[in-house]
Amino acid sequence: MAALLAGFSPSVSGLCCFLRRSWGQLDRIFLGWSSPPWAPALAMQAPAILSEPLEDAYDSNETPSFLDSIFWMAAPKKRRTIEVNRSRRRHPNKLIKVKTNIDVCPDCGHMKLKHVLCDYCYKKVRTETALIRAKIREQEGGPHKTPTVETVVLYEGEKPREQDQGKRIIERERKRPSWFPLD
Ligand SMILES: [Zn+2]
Repeated sequence: MAALLAGFSPSVSGLCCFLRRSWGQLDRIFLGWSSPPWAPALAMQAPAILSEPLEDAYDSNETPSFLDSIFWMAAPKKRRTIEVNRSRRRHPNKLIKVKTNIDVCPDCGHMKLKHVLCDYCYKKVRTETALIRAKIREQEGGPHKTPTVETVVLYEGEKPREQDQGKRIIERERKRPSWFPLD
C-alpha cells in the first residue's frame, strides 16, 4: 500500500503542478494580466436577487443605473386580518354621507340639489341661448355691431307687438319653448 502511494505520489504532484500552470495560463488569457490573482473566496448565503453575475463587474464599463442600488422594497411583516381591514374600510368617516337635501325640479321633474340650479333646465337654456347668439351673429355679422336697444326674441308665428317698436328683433324658426315666456 505504501509502495503504491509512493509510486503514485510523484505523478499526482506533477499532475497538480500541470493543472495549476494551465489554470494560470487560462486566467491570464481570459482575464488579462491586470486581474487580481485567484484567492479562496468566502461563500455566503444571500438572497437570489443579490447574486449578480461576477463577469459583469469585469467587462461592463457602463455607468451604474440608479436601479442597481435598489434591492429591497417595503413589505408588510404580518398579514392584516379581514376584520381589521373591513373595520378600517367601513369606518363612519370613510363612508359616503347620505344626502337629505335632494329635491324635485318644479319645472322638469328631474332630481336636483335644493341649493343649486337644475342641471337639465340649465343645459336646456344654455343650448337655446347659444342658438340665439348664433342667429344674432348671422344677422349682424359680429358681436361688436350690437345696437344699444332692448332685444326681443320672436319665435315661429309671433308678430312684433306695439311695445316692441324700435327694439332689436331676433327671429327663430321654431316654436317657442314652454319655459321661455314672451314677457
Ligand atoms: Zn329642471
